[in-house]
Amino acid sequence: MSYDVLVIGGGPAGLSAAINVRARNKQVLVVSNPMEESPLWKAEQIDNYLGLPGVTGPEMLRVMHRHAQAAGVEFREGKVLNTMHMENAWYVSIGSDMESAAAIVLAGGVSRGKKFPGEEELLGKGVSYCATCDGMLYRGRPVAVVGYGDSARKEASFLEGIGCKVTYFHRPGSCSIQGSGKVESITCDGKTAAVDCVFLLRPTMAPTELFPGLAVEGGYVKVDRRMATNLPGVFAAGDCTGLPLQVAKAVGEGLVAGQSAAAYAVQNGQGR
Ligand SMILES: Cc1cc2nc3c(=O)[nH]c(=O)nc-3n(C[C@H](O)[C@H](O)[C@H](O)COP(=O)(O)OP(=O)(O)OC[C@H]3O[C@@H](n4cnc5c(N)ncnc54)[C@H](O)[C@@H]3O)c2cc1C
Repeated sequence: MSYDVLVIGGGPAGLSAAINVRARNKQVLVVSNPMEESPLWKAEQIDNYLGLPGVTGPEMLRVMHRHAQAAGVEFREGKVLNTMHMENAWYVSIGSDMESAAAIVLAGGVSRGKKFPGEEELLGKGVSYCATCDGMLYRGRPVAVVGYGDSARKEASFLEGIGCKVTYFHRPGSCSIQGSGKVESITCDGKTAAVDCVFLLRPTMAPTELFPGLAVEGGYVKVDRRMATNLPGVFAAGDCTGLPLQVAKAVGEGLVAGQSAAAYAVQNGQGR
């Protein structure tokens, strides 16, 4: 099914965008990593969100999720790996699946952590961001998984299930990937494993990796007052657009982005 709006990221910005798309009676899908892996989940106490003093991060996320579900927002758990624009629609790949929509709201928060030495050079030559997409290529061979949460563990189990010999690195402080022309080994926190492939399963991806050609300013997605980016039908909201990195700002920007995306879908959607 094709949606009017697809939201990348199920934090405060993405959920706010989604309920505002539903308020205009448009179909919206939120694609996000599990709620428990969101940065807000770690907040012990939030005191500066109007009307909810003292709320914990998990409480806030649950309440926002319930609101979105009651409003008819559809959810899909997973990580968006790349996107493509074709004939007035955006196609978004989630693992090895694809969803499409007339407009996108990018609300993936900020990507924390730098690329590892060797990552860029060996991308596509044994460095992969998706176990379900590329795992079969490495059946019966030694691979490494660098993971940061439960979903990465699940992907490591998937790889073991198809016969890969997996070395798992859990939240390493630092890694480097070695190889000439193809991956040969990885070293994380002083431990080296000889492998043919390294799956880097970070929860987020840089916006410019998801959307080649996306304009950024000072490391954040550049938007106008409608939260429109430089790409047709792509709006952005929340931490990914810049400081302050706070819930209230994310929710406000999500509202604007959701309304703008819904209006864009009405003008550019294909008979929805
Ligand atoms: C410990 C801690 C305490 C904090 N305390 C406060 C506070 O007291 N007050 C306050 O206002 N703010 C606080 N913040 C900041 C607040 O959490 C953020 O400003 C807010 O969550 C931003 O919302 P967002 O929707 O833009 O991004 P996020 O909440 O980061 O949500 C983005 C979501 O998108 C997902 N995602 C990213 N990329 C992809 C992809 N490619 N595919 C699928 N999913 C993806 C992420 O995993 C995440 O779940 C705190 C943050 C932390 C870490």
